[in-house]
Amino acid sequence: MNFENNLSFAQTLDEADQLRHFRSQFIFPKHNNKDFIYLCGNSLGLQPKVSADVLKGQLDNWANYAVEGWFDGNEPWMFYHKELKKLMAPIVGALPAEVCPMNTLTVNLHLLMVSFYQPKGKRFKIIMEGGAFPSDQYAIESQVRFHGFDPKEAIIEVFPKEGEEILHTDDILAKIKENADDIALVLFGGINYYTGQWYDMKTITKAGHEIGAIVGWDLAHAAGNVPVKLHDWDVDFACWCSYKYQNSGPGGISGIFVHEKNFNNNNLNRFAGWWGYQENKRFKMEKGFIPEPGADGWQVSCTQVMPMALYHASLQLFEQAGFIEPLRIKSITLTNYLEFIINEVNKTLGITQYKIITPKTPEDRGAQLSIIAQQEGKQIFDGLMANHVLGDWREPNVIRLSAVPLYNSFEDVFLAGQALLKVSLDILKIKI
Ligand SMILES: *Cc1c(COP(=O)(O)O)cnc(C)c1O
Repeated sequence: MNFENNLSFAQTLDEADQLRHFRSQFIFPKHNNKDFIYLCGNSLGLQPKVSADVLKGQLDNWANYAVEGWFDGNEPWMFYHKELKKLMAPIVGALPAEVCPMNTLTVNLHLLMVSFYQPKGKRFKIIMEGGAFPSDQYAIESQVRFHGFDPKEAIIEVFPKEGEEILHTDDILAKIKENADDIALVLFGGINYYTGQWYDMKTITKAGHEIGAIVGWDLAHAAGNVPVKLHDWDVDFACWCSYKYQNSGPGGISGIFVHEKNFNNNNLNRFAGWWGYQENKRFKMEKGFIPEPGADGWQVSCTQVMPMALYHASLQLFEQAGFIEPLRIKSITLTNYLEFIINEVNKTLGITQYKIITPKTPEDRGAQLSIIAQQEGKQIFDGLMANHVLGDWREPNVIRLSAVPLYNSFEDVFLAGQALLKVSLDILKIKI
């Protein structure tokens, strides 16, 4: 498509957008009574308008039924997670039995590593992307220590080539092969939080299995953003948070995936709790843990009803939108347009002030573009805020912007470009 840098072009794309009515289902934050152009769904998704009613509904259930709410009412809490499982499965390309909402992301990373990081003899290493999200680094570091290893020896990080920002799949595969006998676990983020690079999950998963390793993914920035096929790609396990692209609210509940091929593997360690116990016998309170089959068997504590209600309501919007495929089609064009608009700003400025480090090809990225501001980055970011454009800032010089297909418009992207140009001209004192 030949893009144009003008309002009527952006509005024409919006008029043709089948998903445009979803925007009105979300609440945009305001500044001086004016809506922000919100390009920060990679960090915290917007609040669906139904959220307040949904929470109120569960508060009413609590008020009306109290403890009987576990088994009474239209959505008994005891079985409530099953409603979510049905809707989570298509988001990550899984069977409903393979997914379960529970806990929060880093907690689930730990629980899943307890099961799937099983060092034996020489095979004790974990391979991950260099520059992973800090929480993942800390979790992995503490897991290898827990098993008595030195993180310096037990963790292999794959970094980009000198002077580059992005990993090449071939380099990842080569590193996996080089360490074929030593790697117990391949554990990457599906999309890197900093660069926005979407790794070739299918190929990396296959390469990990070929050397006899277990392969898991942290989908914090991928779930609800790009189409992943966890079941078909034969991924062993995965987890994600739901508050970024899935709009479940701050600290929202996490999801886990365990491939069905692992359901009957009795050699997996687990840190167990009563909610992972066989559902039909849970209240017999018997001695000796026997897990509920499927991902549900990894639950530890009782259902977090309020966060689940928020996630459920948001998943219903995804269902109405046709889950990931229609959103992805819009997302590719929307992100391409954002890239075009940023390059237009550079052109008008007459310098490459903004360098996009996210890969250029849609199959290597999701909704997020990470943009190095060559000069005065923080001032420009603050200037954007003052002009009602909300993205996020990562030290030392990266602005991350994400146009989210469920609630962002092409007009948002065009107007963000106008604001970026205005702020850049001001701050860099460029005359055109
Ligand atoms: C956002 C994010 C987290 C956050 O973890 P919480 O446990 O939800 O605080 C962890 N890992 C990655 C890769 C993330 O992007």
